[in-house]
Amino acid sequence: MEEGIRQVAQWIIHAKKTVIFAGAGLSTESGIPDFRSPGGVWEKYNPEDFYFQNFIASEASREKYWRMATEMYGPIKKAQPNPAHLAIAELERMAKLDCVITQNIDGLHHKAGNSEEKIIELHGTATYVTCLNCKKRYDRDEIQERLRRGAKVPYCDDCGGPLKPATISFGQSMPERETEEAYQRSSACDLFIVIGSSLVVQPAASMPLVAKRSRAKLVIINRDPTPYDEMADLVIHGQAGPIMAGILNDVKKDLS
Ligand SMILES: [Zn+2]
Repeated sequence: MEEGIRQVAQWIIHAKKTVIFAGAGLSTESGIPDFRSPGGVWEKYNPEDFYFQNFIASEASREKYWRMATEMYGPIKKAQPNPAHLAIAELERMAKLDCVITQNIDGLHHKAGNSEEKIIELHGTATYVTCLNCKKRYDRDEIQERLRRGAKVPYCDDCGGPLKPATISFGQSMPERETEEAYQRSSACDLFIVIGSSLVVQPAASMPLVAKRSRAKLVIINRDPTPYDEMADLVIHGQAGPIMAGILNDVKKDLS
């Protein structure tokens, strides 16, 4: 593992454009449960109740959705960036990061200090709420306060449209601008580092392939094996936090 860490650090130092691709593994190390894993929220709720079409169609679905979303938001609000998030933010400060493409909705890259224009959120974010009708944006905590005071479903002050966290739900199309930018950046980079993603959810799963076809080096840092391990130039199995802290340390040593 030490040797792998040193190698990735060297590649970062010499890369022109490093793209980091972050998955759920990064969030779980900050104490946010992986909602798809056993014991996760989907065992308690029926995912079909949360299809976007149902949210649009019925008040009862919206109410169930907000109950679940409220439960999921608790750990998200409390969570703090871990050493992997902090290392990614530090790489930006050192001008060693093209962007971070993330599957996570917890806003932890923002909290860690990455700037808005470096973060591409493929699945949206739980940190704010939007009106599905007029697109007006609301602070998440403000809306949670309305629910705490007894509202079952929040509606827009301006137009009365239903409010929903700005996350991408089942059955909702991927955000066009973010998806396009993620593909573009993946194809233009020369180093693509996957951190904490099992690379099975589309379209995320195809991005390492795009990078590889454009001759970028592919690094995978994940607890478990992924379908792309064979194709990767380097794979490190383990916890993202300590591994990224080690890589950052080596980058700093070499650049100082
Ligand atoms: Zn509205």
